[in-house]
Amino acid sequence: MRRKLLFGNWKMNKTIAETKVFGKESVELEKFAKSKNVDIGIAPVYLSLAALKEANPSLIVASQNLHYEDHGAFTGEISIPMLKELGVDWAIIGHSERRSYYNETNESCNKKLLAMEANKMTPIYCVGETLEQFEKGVTKKVIEEQVLEGIKGLSKAYVEDMVIAYEPVWSIGTGKNASKEIAQDICSYIRELIKKEYGDASSKIRILYGGSVKPENVHDYLAQKDVDGALVGGASLKVDSFRQLIENI
Ligand code: PEP
Repeated sequence: MRRKLLFGNWKMNKTIAETKVFGKESVELEKFAKSKNVDIGIAPVYLSLAALKEANPSLIVASQNLHYEDHGAFTGEISIPMLKELGVDWAIIGHSERRSYYNETNESCNKKLLAMEANKMTPIYCVGETLEQFEKGVTKKVIEEQVLEGIKGLSKAYVEDMVIAYEPVWSIGTGKNASKEIAQDICSYIRELIKKEYGDASSKIRILYGGSVKPENVHDYLAQKDVDGALVGGASLKVDSFRQLIENI
């Protein structure tokens, strides 16, 4: 039985002080989530990782990115040992904003995922097609490339415990939701791809939907057979809204 997972991606929002306030309130939020058998986590900006961990040590805290090298001449980057020192052992990899604004590719994502496996970190690997690709009807081809190139070389045991998020680029931060049928179709397609490569790891891996998920629509997505949770941007920024997401599952 796969546990449901609601993950907040805060993008470039909240100062350290604002994060501390949320972090303290997240203690109750996490208890509430546990009572509903739901896992929750948050990916704040790098600067706030330590503050969030300190405010709520049991919360799953993820970095929004990382570099695959441990150290070196990579201005502006952060590495796995730096995150582990803070007790952060999750990271979002390949978010569409990083793919489109910072030239993240399937190949660079693969290097990051391999480095994460070597260091026992859990990834949320994001895949999704652009509006143009959706309109051309090549969604599954794009998803197949992103999934298979991204996870190349990972072990079966690692893939079982990782998380993949299907986030159609045209639905992120736009208020334009993919239908629940599209979410189910693509999440089930991702599970099939995993099955072909890794056999029964496909029944354990958690696959999330992301893109304008709100308290009003979260239930529709999570009621789908292959949707194990949601990656949520805007609606994860306020404690009340996060609580409603959990409540409405
Ligand atoms: C995201 O940032 O991954 C996301 C899905 O954002 P939003 O929920 O705001 O569309």
